[in-house]
Amino acid sequence: MIVPTVQNSPMPTLGYALFATRWLQAPLYFGLVAAQGVYVYKFFNELWALILRCVSGRATETYVMLAVLKLVDVVMIANLLIMVIVGGYETFVSRIGLQGHRDQPEWLSHVNSNVLKVKLATAIVGISSVHLLQMFVDVHHTSRHALLWGTVIHMAFIFSAAILAYMSGPMARRSEHPPAPRRAEPTTATPAPEPPPAPGPPPAPVPVSAPAPAALPTPFPLPAQRRAEDPEAREAAGAEERMRAAGFPVRKVLEEFDESHPRAFDRDTVARLGKLDFVTARHNAVFVGPPGTGKTHLAVGLGVRACQAGHRVLCATAAAWAARLAEAHAAGRLTEELTALDAYPLLIVDEVGYTPFDPAATALFFQFVAHRYERGSLIVTADRPPARWTEVFSGPSVPAMADRLVHHAEIVRLDADSYRTRHARAAWAD
Ligand code: ADP
Ligand code: MG
Repeated sequence: MIVPTVQNSPMPTLGYALFATRWLQAPLYFGLVAAQGVYVYKFFNELWALILRCVSGRATETYVMLAVLKLVDVVMIANLLIMVIVGGYETFVSRIGLQGHRDQPEWLSHVNSNVLKVKLATAIVGISSVHLLQMFVDVHHTSRHALLWGTVIHMAFIFSAAILAYMSGPMARRSEHPPAPRRAEPTTATPAPEPPPAPGPPPAPVPVSAPAPAALPTPFPLPAQRRAEDPEAREAAGAEERMRAAGFPVRKVLEEFDESHPRAFDRDTVARLGKLDFVTARHNAVFVGPPGTGKTHLAVGLGVRACQAGHRVLCATAAAWAARLAEAHAAGRLTEELTALDAYPLLIVDEVGYTPFDPAATALFFQFVAHRYERGSLIVTADRPPARWTEVFSGPSVPAMADRLVHHAEIVRLDADSYRTRHARAAWAD
């Protein structure tokens, strides 16, 4: 397997020096801390004036409301300041490392310049609405001109905050879902030779880079929603659903097939089949061998892999297929049944050879194979090669049926002692 290597090129000295200049910003944040001190002073000044006025009995209701709004205004500006100080320092200068701190602000864990902009815009809207409220409360001392412009400016703040929030949505989504992951290319100049085909799992998209952390504080999709939106989780659920619907007699995977067990066995062909190109090419596969040699195992293994790759699959024994076709024929809807089966790119007919078929059943099988010819894939497991199917099927259509089936087919012969019997013998010996 080719493992991509990440080249850790040393950061160029010039770039590093430029990056270090971010520390020049650090005193600015401390300057803002001083400004915050000014606001603290202003707050207590206002508060003291309010208390004095109330105590001396000179405070009207309007005055108290205005004074309180002023205090709220000061606090909101202080909040805005702390947001700029902490968020800006964390984003543009250096990590503060508050992770796990009891008092870590909720927004700091996902702060970035985008979030900061939106937060600032909403804080400004908050401050401007307090100002506007003050104007309306003190409407007798506010000119119409000031009221009009206060309202207009407030609307402008709301509008720009809405636009910023809207724009940061797509930006955040883009950073949350980076472009579709591409397969990592080898970084070596000369490409390594392709490994020999092996019946490994089908090529699944391997994300090269982990998705970036969420950028927007709200609205966050809930974990369940995220799973539902997660394409990988959806794909796995779809594969499971297809496997359940396929009707496999047992769940077997190709990786569990012990290649050393059969005496003779065409590994390369099975590996090629495992890539599922035969399904997209609408070709067939026939596994031939005595009982217990792993024919059903391989057929189901391929079927499971096809389900995982997104193909719908149906699996049944030859006897069950014969019954299904006979039933459809009796109901006068054989053509519809065959057409409905076109929705399944892969059909598995297991155990040809164990049940003899009369001419009527053989004729139905012939129609079935003839309809599938170049329309969809079939996997057939049989205890004898197609040339000897006249021993199982009867009637004139047997050679034509076998001919159509093997025309575009990989035929895999398994020569082995029964895996069941051998393992039973080993267990008995133990
Ligand atoms: P067949 O269909 O040829 O009669 P099966 O595929 O049903 O045989 O195999 C019988 C049992 O033996 C199954 O449980 C199967 O998983 C197991 N088996 C057969 N061959 C192998 C093998 N080469 N490696 C692992 N398990 C095997
Ligand atoms: Mg079998």
